Amino acid sequence: MKTTGIVTGITSNLVTVQVNGPVAQNEICYIDLAGTNLMAEVIKVTGDKAFVQVYESTRGMKKGDKVVFEGFMLEATLGPGLLSSSYDGLQNNLETMEGVFLKRGEYTAPLDDEKLWDFTPIAKVGDQVCASDWLGEVKEGWLPHKIMVPFAFEGEYVVKSIVEAGQYKINDTIAILTDENNEEKVVTMVQKWPVKVSVGGYVEKPRPSKIMETGVRCIDTLNPIAEGGTGFIPGPFGCGKTVLQHAIAQQGDAEIIVMAACGERANEVVEIFKEFPELVDPHTGRKLMERTTIICNTSNMPVAAREASVYTAMTICEYYRQMGMKVLLLADSTSRWAQALREMSNRMEELPGADAFPVDLSAIISNFYARAGVVKLRNGSTGSVTFIGTVSPAGGNLKEPVTESTKKAARCFYALAQARADKKRYPAVDPVDSYSKYLEYPEIVEYLQNRVDKDWVNKVNRAKTIIRRGKEVYEQINILGDDGVPISYHEMYWKSELIDFVILQQDAFDPIDSVTPMDRQEFMLSLVLNICDKSFTFETFEDCSAKFKEIINIMRQMNYSEFKSEQFNKYFEQVNKILSDE
Ligand code: ADP
Ligand code: MG
Repeated sequence: MKTTGIVTGITSNLVTVQVNGPVAQNEICYIDLAGTNLMAEVIKVTGDKAFVQVYESTRGMKKGDKVVFEGFMLEATLGPGLLSSSYDGLQNNLETMEGVFLKRGEYTAPLDDEKLWDFTPIAKVGDQVCASDWLGEVKEGWLPHKIMVPFAFEGEYVVKSIVEAGQYKINDTIAILTDENNEEKVVTMVQKWPVKVSVGGYVEKPRPSKIMETGVRCIDTLNPIAEGGTGFIPGPFGCGKTVLQHAIAQQGDAEIIVMAACGERANEVVEIFKEFPELVDPHTGRKLMERTTIICNTSNMPVAAREASVYTAMTICEYYRQMGMKVLLLADSTSRWAQALREMSNRMEELPGADAFPVDLSAIISNFYARAGVVKLRNGSTGSVTFIGTVSPAGGNLKEPVTESTKKAARCFYALAQARADKKRYPAVDPVDSYSKYLEYPEIVEYLQNRVDKDWVNKVNRAKTIIRRGKEVYEQINILGDDGVPISYHEMYWKSELIDFVILQQDAFDPIDSVTPMDRQEFMLSLVLNICDKSFTFETFEDCSAKFKEIINIMRQMNYSEFKSEQFNKYFEQVNKILSDE
């Protein structure tokens, strides 16, 4: 028997319902509007009163309308066909919508239930299995997609039967399992999971111990992100958050990409649909979209649907992680999600926290970031979800609550500076304020020493020191004038400029410069540091700047040339000549 209720109050999308039975937090319900059923989620229960947030416009709703509670939470539908798809926060398929908004009360099927998939069994009759164990595999595009024991199955099962290799639809029976009471459970290729609950079913969630290479130098060289790690990119409008995320999506060492696009304006979201499907996957030469799922919404979508979208995205990531895949989740921008939380909390007239965000904003953000990570599966494989979110602080104020809360949750901080963007120093990641806490992990340091060079972390720290010193002397020069400081100050400043121009700045739109593999990053940083180690003897500060401008010019040309090509080596010789002069 489902619990029912009647509408007693309506404030925008927040509806109060008098209920006649038990209801749970986050439970889904439908409100009957003269035959149109609007989906809503319970966000608070007090006594026999439930506060529900409707996922669509409540226009025309009135007191006395009937409500039916479903007894389950908002769920994601998981199965083959998620890749290459674009959804809204409720997993309505945006392609089948063909650009027009769905009519109220209409929800589309997330997966194609007519499509045939080539299934190959992995498990055998008699095998002992439990939730998330692999029963078989289909090819999703060119990637192996594991068909697993549904996450919601509790306890141990025995495989009673499993279908032979062949073509099946997602709702066909793939296996029959029996539990300890010999009760049969049917497994198909599709399962559901509540989006706000983290998917378990792994043995261990160890600390990240590898880095995820992104090809972006200011990340990989200076502040690397771990595979299964977390990072965030705060920055004012127009500073390059989206460009940086697209670069990471394209080049990052991940198998699956989930892009949660929470746009301010509809046109930002349209951009995603125009640009993302055009992106080419440098690892395969195919379209990046073949291994991507986009979850997308704009601020004209109702608040609860916006709030749900990041959870739906994370759940899809966790689903692929249980297949032993490396998954990358990008959310642009998480500020829109926080704003949805704020709108909901304000409508409920909860006691507000800083800037009217919910009091538990920090906890909500931390819990979300905590869902990223590396997991060890029962069969010995590992999977990971790496999460990088952007934050768009109003007016670039990094002291606002969303940035501050995210700073506590994420291990990498890539602050985009307006001043750098104004000077077209892209990516505008501030080299002094930004950090990666993974550089403090002994296992990551060891990994980098083996992967790159045993002196690597020292080199990175030396580069950072030069950048910091450069900034200090720059201020001195500004105050005291070019002639008011020793020439050594100019030399220090230009050494930091060399690192800035050659290592930090990177053209996201150049086919060569946009992607820098790790061996090339190692080569360039070592070369730059060799120059920084040289003590030059300059007569005047003009000599100093002229010499460094010459070196910067040559080394920028190196960045635009194919690594170790004839052209590249020619520039390299020129640098070596400068190094051996005097
Ligand atoms: P945001 O998402 O922060 O509002 P965008 O990512 O849309 O900003 O970037 C704004 C503009 O800045 C881009 O259209 C591009 O012209 C420029 N830009 C940003 N990053 C780079 C980069 N790495 N290389 C070259 N241009 C860049
Ligand atoms: Mg943007």
